[in-house]
Amino acid sequence: MNATGAWDRLEPKLAATNARVAALESDPSRRNSFVAYTMERDSAYCDLDGERLLMMSGYSYLGLAGDERVVAAAKAAVDVYGTGNHGVRALAGTIPLHEELEAEVARFAGRERALVFGSGYAANVGTVGALVGQGDTVLIDKYDHASIVDGCRLSGATVTRFRHNDVDHLERRLKAAAPTGVRLVIVDSVYSMDGDIAPLPELREVCDRYDALLMVDEAHALGVIGKTGGGIEEHFDHKVRVDVKLGTLSKAIPSMGGWIAGSHDLIGHLRYAARPFLFSAALGPAQTGAALESLRILRREPERVTHTQTQAQRLRTRLNDAGISTMDSTTAVLPVIAGSDDAAYDYATACRKAGVIGLPVVTPAVPNDLARLRIAVTARHTAADIDFAAEAFLTAAAQTGLI
Ligand code: PMP
Repeated sequence: MNATGAWDRLEPKLAATNARVAALESDPSRRNSFVAYTMERDSAYCDLDGERLLMMSGYSYLGLAGDERVVAAAKAAVDVYGTGNHGVRALAGTIPLHEELEAEVARFAGRERALVFGSGYAANVGTVGALVGQGDTVLIDKYDHASIVDGCRLSGATVTRFRHNDVDHLERRLKAAAPTGVRLVIVDSVYSMDGDIAPLPELREVCDRYDALLMVDEAHALGVIGKTGGGIEEHFDHKVRVDVKLGTLSKAIPSMGGWIAGSHDLIGHLRYAARPFLFSAALGPAQTGAALESLRILRREPERVTHTQTQAQRLRTRLNDAGISTMDSTTAVLPVIAGSDDAAYDYATACRKAGVIGLPVVTPAVPNDLARLRIAVTARHTAADIDFAAEAFLTAAAQTGLI
């Protein structure tokens, strides 16, 4: 027996995806996904098909990807522990480095304890699923990351969405929520496609009034906002606290993994109840060593955070002064709205011709007609890089009719 019939029934689905991709990739100048870049180790430039281009869409906000100290820490971890581990954390997969990393994360986050997952995605899915289920209500911002949405769907809780950064709308949703069960509000602290910041004090206030827990995803805030890169609580001068804090180790921290920081009891529960943690392999030694060293560097070198913030503001000012809006961005992520998906691809192509990589983000990742270039500034960018990038973005905008 073979599964010919099943393959036939699946075929339309496979064909639809492949046709869409083929259409996108038919013009090599518009190929933007799955492109292999080689970043230079000591600059923000990369090599693409023999061409040297300035990368303006990378995630390594602190400029630590390729940092020799981080590379050395990863190598040292491999020398001691090897390349993999011996299973899941609860069985033979835990190494002392995991415990050191979790202690460092807890210290960074100002919490009693932390737990490190294999990815930020797994941390969201696992945590939401471990905290809420049938009979509970989870309320999420319309622009929350896909891993939060997936965690909510899998949890079995009632899921309600509120308008982006709209606390009044959240309040109406909370009013309408079931009076019993746990209420959990989840927001991104910095929105990855818009670069704006969640209104934490107002969110905290409404959550307190309606007896809801508040969880934040700090993926794009860690190392980016707050004086020392501490994230949204530091950004708001530590006047308010969140109940559950999630971060990743894959952006400002140039490794892999995600984490939750919180109370002793919260982490004690997640260790046994978060399925993507319990049933998936432990973070590898190289990733663990790299993440630990990066967090230590962040503690010692807060000027990296200031540098990124200054350069992001420099670029924002240059673009805004020339008539290019960057929406409500106040962080290292700067969206430049092109409109249709095609317009975003055209703009990206013109930017590349001007020497800069700015990657387009199109539907369904962003709402219809809000396709954009998602520009990101990192600590690798010098003031001269920013000026060069600004010129390129403006020239390309003029060429494609955006200004
Ligand atoms: N949360 C947010 C806001 C993200 O942007 C991402 C990744 N793009 C994740 C979670 C998932 O993190 P990771 O890539 O480490 O799985």
